[in-house]
Amino acid sequence: MRKLDVKGIGMTSQRTRNRLIEKIEHLGIKNKEVLRVMGLVPRHLFVDSALASRSYENTALPIGYGQTISQPYIVARMTELLLDSDNPLDNILEVGTGSGYQAAVLGGLVKNLQTVERILPLYRKARCLLYELGYRNIYPHHADGTWGWQKTAPYDAIMVTAAPTEIPNSLIQQLKIGGRMIIPVGKNNREQVLQLVIRVSENEHTVENYEAVVFVPFLQQTHK
Ligand code: SAH
Repeated sequence: MRKLDVKGIGMTSQRTRNRLIEKIEHLGIKNKEVLRVMGLVPRHLFVDSALASRSYENTALPIGYGQTISQPYIVARMTELLLDSDNPLDNILEVGTGSGYQAAVLGGLVKNLQTVERILPLYRKARCLLYELGYRNIYPHHADGTWGWQKTAPYDAIMVTAAPTEIPNSLIQQLKIGGRMIIPVGKNNREQVLQLVIRVSENEHTVENYEAVVFVPFLQQTHK
């Protein structure tokens, strides 16, 4: 097995990581657990080594295949909104594994995380890295997240890290009653907004809008 430089040095050191955490706290993230866990996850290992020196900037970065690792502040914000729940978060689904960074952050905070990615090389890379880093409560799957992940549904919470034009009903159906979903929704880069969806009963859900965001498109199939 290759040796991972988990601690990092210089631009990838704990000091640099701490500075990023201070920055996102300053931007308004209040949940101490989220800040603590993000201070532990080595983001530099989730990007190409050529970009490692930029991995603790508060920006999204390319991860290949036209996809990006999300901006740390947005990762923190989405995680904070997901955690702000009265119910225990035992069974969680992430749609859009990408680099696996958001999954690692969630993995440090919830009991079990299923995560689906449709691009095979990204799925393989993230699965391997998350395993090497020691996560045993994260279950990556290569699948089209339009259909969620039925085998372990229903979920206490779902986080979607790519933006569909509308909230997919198939995902609402995989939420428990009282379950919550954080999802960026919008037609293009300028109109996306972070939404919190709560399934209040079998056939009803509420939607609350949060900040404007920029995510890669969620590729939706119309037929199974
Ligand atoms: N959470 C990721 C962000 C990756 S970008 C991270 O922390 O790095 C969003 C990801 O969603 C991309 O990898 C993209 O391939 C994936 N994606 C887009 N549409 C999808 C779909 N329908 N099913 C599964 N994954 C999808």
